[in-house]
Amino acid sequence: MRANYRMQRLFVGDALAPSATFEVKPEQAHYLANVLRLGTGAEILVFNGRDGEWRAEIAAVKKKSVSLTVREQTRPQSPHPDLVYCFAPLKQGRLDYMVQKAVEMGAGVLQPVLTQHTQVLKLGLSRLEANVIEAAEQCGILAVPELREPLKLDRLLADWDTDRALIFCDEAAETNGPLQILRSVESKRLGLLVGPEGGFSEDERRQLRALPFVTAIPLGPRILRADTAAVAALAVIQASIGDWC
Ligand code: SAH
Repeated sequence: MRANYRMQRLFVGDALAPSATFEVKPEQAHYLANVLRLGTGAEILVFNGRDGEWRAEIAAVKKKSVSLTVREQTRPQSPHPDLVYCFAPLKQGRLDYMVQKAVEMGAGVLQPVLTQHTQVLKLGLSRLEANVIEAAEQCGILAVPELREPLKLDRLLADWDTDRALIFCDEAAETNGPLQILRSVESKRLGLLVGPEGGFSEDERRQLRALPFVTAIPLGPRILRADTAAVAALAVIQASIGDWC
């Protein structure tokens, strides 16, 4: 079921059940009361990633707090999409964009991966988490993707569940198009790997291509920036063998 786009949606930490009442976080209170100018009795939608989506009423607006009373469920909880999105961290602005887009495009797990040419080694996970939640609020999904701690590429590959296909965006792959290649992993659970701004090293490409669970795909004749490649790869996967089908 698609989301109701006319109502404001808010991610909350509290348990959601009929008549539950709680205060939202201070920044959410500010947003509801001062930006949207909602008053007592106004309705919004709330979700917490566990209990589905619920209609809630603003029960009270005080100077610095807003409390909500939960009414009825509007959509049941949906499971995480089973797509593990692995990406080399980028510089802040592009990373924010990439994480938001990955959530909108249906990634279920976000796995930062450190490769040889990865320039950004320190990640602000709480900022990324905020981006994940913002994107989830915006696009109407109820299962908030899981954001994992960064891993080195070697570790990611050593620990990979070999029943899951890892689709590797290889900027040096022959460009006969990704669609036919994707058909070969149609019935599998999927992961996707996009490289850093500096691309994969020759060693990494060799290592990846030698693994039985890895499938290399091209994304056309042009070199895309990593954030563009992420959206392009997710679109082509979802449209050919994923949840757009
Ligand atoms: N600096 C590198 C490009 C890196 S692009 C170079 O000049 O070669 C960043 C990442 O996006 C790549 O590692 C790859 O995963 C993906 N990507 C970009 N363009 C691509 C293409 N045409 N085909 C497949 N993957 C691509």
